Amino acid sequence: MSQAQHHAQLIDGKAAAAALLETVRQDVAALRASGVIPTLAVVLVGDDPASHVYVRNKVLRASEVGIRSLEHRLPADTGQHALLKLIATLNADAGVNGILVQMPLPAQIDEGAVIDAIDPHKDVDGFHRENVGRLVLGEPALTPCTPSGCLFLLKQTLGDLSGKHAVVIGRSNIVGKPMAALLLHANCSVTVLHSRSVGARELCRQADIVVAAVGRAQMIDASWIKPGATVIDVGINRIQAGDKTRLVGDAEFDSVARVAGAMTPVPGGVGPMTIAFLMKNTVLAAKRQSQHDL
Ligand code: NAD
Repeated sequence: MSQAQHHAQLIDGKAAAAALLETVRQDVAALRASGVIPTLAVVLVGDDPASHVYVRNKVLRASEVGIRSLEHRLPADTGQHALLKLIATLNADAGVNGILVQMPLPAQIDEGAVIDAIDPHKDVDGFHRENVGRLVLGEPALTPCTPSGCLFLLKQTLGDLSGKHAVVIGRSNIVGKPMAALLLHANCSVTVLHSRSVGARELCRQADIVVAAVGRAQMIDASWIKPGATVIDVGINRIQAGDKTRLVGDAEFDSVARVAGAMTPVPGGVGPMTIAFLMKNTVLAAKRQSQHDL
């Protein structure tokens, strides 16, 4: 096949998420049959429109799989003390299995202090330092949803990842760093690139697997990609196209698709997997708290 005709296999995150959610739905049914109602508390502070959309989608997905959700909407001027008090109440409530505090929080609240306050067993986002430590040590943990979703898609596409060279672009606490840890545990050789990296494009071009989590629209074009590589695009960026806005990833889709072996689209790639893993983590938390087998 000539270069011009080549098109990467599309990794369908929507379909993978639907299949995963079906297994979650069955797990929820089994838990309910044994008297446990998996319950997710969702806390939203303020009126950020994007956060409202995310919370609505999470609550909707929860109800589809039979997870009960409890919404706590607090005004934008909520103080840190009041939020920490609510978290303490949710921690102590045996009927709550998972606690999700939608980020970002208003400026007067210290996000780190809020994450620290959540019971690690209920930390379905996997952001608490105990879960981060466990992840790095390779011990059972609640792991962050987005990188967990990326790993699932990679395993589904490539099978065993042992020995593959994975390049993660971005080093945030919610995507880049946990992604690197998960790939290391999957026996990849891992390179993490970031804003201070020198020669990023050349390093990336050596990768069998590229996970892009930068937040820069279409930064990665074909010149970053080794022919046949698998590309997971985490980026969600809004760009202006005429008088409409359009969602694009960190990869320039058409260009990368001509050289990659497989890649995720945006939207319809990593996004649906993130919510699916939030549901999976909620069920995992409920099972562990009720001491059912994993
Ligand atoms: P972030 O801003 O916290 O981190 C971005 C990282 O990119 C930083 O570590 C920085 O070092 C690195 N970076 C910046 N410029 C760079 C450059 N020129 N070259 C290499 N690295 C560079 O972002 P984040 O929270 O990790 O999110 C990244 C993207 O993923 C965003 O577009 C975000 O919207 C998206 N995201 C998607 C999902 C999802 O569900 N699909 C979930 C979380 C984040």
